[in-house]
Amino acid sequence: MKAYWIDLNDVVQHPGRRVEYPLEIWLEREEAPPLAEPIRGTLVAESGGRIIRLQGEFHTVVWLECGRCLSYFQLPVTFELHEEFPMQGIPSGVSSAGFATVEDKDSFPVFEGNLLRADDLLRQYLLLELPMAPVCRDDCKGLCPTCGHNLNEGECTCAPRKGHPAFESLARAWYEEETN
Ligand SMILES: [Zn+2]
Ligand SMILES: [Zn+2]
Repeated sequence: MKAYWIDLNDVVQHPGRRVEYPLEIWLEREEAPPLAEPIRGTLVAESGGRIIRLQGEFHTVVWLECGRCLSYFQLPVTFELHEEFPMQGIPSGVSSAGFATVEDKDSFPVFEGNLLRADDLLRQYLLLELPMAPVCRDDCKGLCPTCGHNLNEGECTCAPRKGHPAFESLARAWYEEETN
């Protein structure tokens, strides 16, 4: 599995330092919807001495399956990231004997020491932005319940439903008997 690590040690050891990391990341397919475009944006890391602040605005395009017509469509997604993590220890930029490390006590940690797993962090944000019940468009007509034709591509030849469903199934059973 490919991981996208960013070494933030330089920021961590220098209070007041601010570094920008332009990112372009593809996520592993099993863990996120397929991406039509990589996640692009700039991650800004800033040390406040006792905390490290991460922020940035990111954009991508994901492939989703429409819940009504079952076709795949692209959805552009933009999200803003804001995170703060406490740090422990004295930064080496302050005292040559010191060494500060990021403390990530989250149940899904994105830091290992002062290395940030950027793909994990971005995935967490991306998943929160996705709709629970995706539809390709608000007026998607869905599929014909009889023949499965995609009604966005035009009407099918099925007769419009009328009459009581019980009579309909009775008529169908009768018809099937005759043709057998
Ligand atoms: Zn649809
Ligand atoms: Zn039909």
